[in-house]
Amino acid sequence: MSGQNCFVGERVVRQEPCRICGFDEGIKIAETEFWDLQHCDIVQCTSCGLIQLDPMITAQNTATGCHAYYLKEIAETPVHEQQRNLLRNYRRGIIFARSLQKKGFHPETILEFGPGSGYFSAGIQFIFPGCRITVVDIVDEVLKMNREIHGFTVFSGSPEDIRFFGNLKFDLIVARDILEHVTDIGQVISNIAALLKPGGLFHFLTPNGKEDVWGHYLNQELRKKPSELLINHVNYFEGAGLLKCLTGSGFSKIEYYTYQVKYAVRGKGWKHSEKLAAPISTKQSAGELIRSQEQKAKAHSFQKEEILDIFIFRTKIKWLITLYCWYKHHWLIHLDPKRNIGHEIHGVFIKN
Ligand SMILES: [Zn+2]
Repeated sequence: MSGQNCFVGERVVRQEPCRICGFDEGIKIAETEFWDLQHCDIVQCTSCGLIQLDPMITAQNTATGCHAYYLKEIAETPVHEQQRNLLRNYRRGIIFARSLQKKGFHPETILEFGPGSGYFSAGIQFIFPGCRITVVDIVDEVLKMNREIHGFTVFSGSPEDIRFFGNLKFDLIVARDILEHVTDIGQVISNIAALLKPGGLFHFLTPNGKEDVWGHYLNQELRKKPSELLINHVNYFEGAGLLKCLTGSGFSKIEYYTYQVKYAVRGKGWKHSEKLAAPISTKQSAGELIRSQEQKAKAHSFQKEEILDIFIFRTKIKWLITLYCWYKHHWLIHLDPKRNIGHEIHGVFIKN
């Protein structure tokens, strides 16, 4: 692994081996606490560069912490903001599908892991009206929403275990903001390859790991205490290592870049300022949050017609709608993820 992508820290023997390359040594770059549930080190693999929690959060703690985080998010996000997010995802789905169309791809069967509101895939369906969409999630409420609002086929499960698919194969698999959450990233990437037809596409979006882990690293450096971790980001990807993992698993690159450099300009990833450090863990109780919010927090349910009832969509003019979506979301600056600058890594890969 090249020096510039390596964090500084104590060399340690890991409690669990790296989930990509199996190496059992690493650099400990921080300590963190997932709610009041589990204490973990954050360790960078000295062989492949992947940064992970060590040990990994247990399945039970993940379920509890994620439930608490979900309720906290609903309680803290105003309804109009939730509504804006749905429309934003729909537009992004449209742009993404249009970019595939321009490259000559016309997926008919699409699988999305962790679809959230389902509006990204709904945007894909706007461009490819005949495509059939299947979604997979562990949260029943998410599956219900995707089935009732969009009419998608739903499966309860996760990309870590794909036995329930039997022999089903897909033309396109989408995993946006999923890879950073999965316990065994090596297994997930090979599962995705197994679920694709030859020539099938894999699209993902995941945070730039260096920027995402920076707050935890600084907190450790400046305060020497465990940081607070409320959302279960358990993998922090280094651009060159992730690419190598994908190409080693039978994929070839079509698009691979980072964008949104404003966070890096503000110093995330290089500036050693206390302002950028993650908060110190206060061992917030996940159980208590769940008890206090469960009765109150209800995800607002929106009518699809209401969400898409804006002038530009009412025109039904495809090229105009596509242009409008592109105008809202295009990123002028695309950087090579190997530089580990930028907010998110965008990838489109083809199965060999
Ligand atoms: Zn490794």
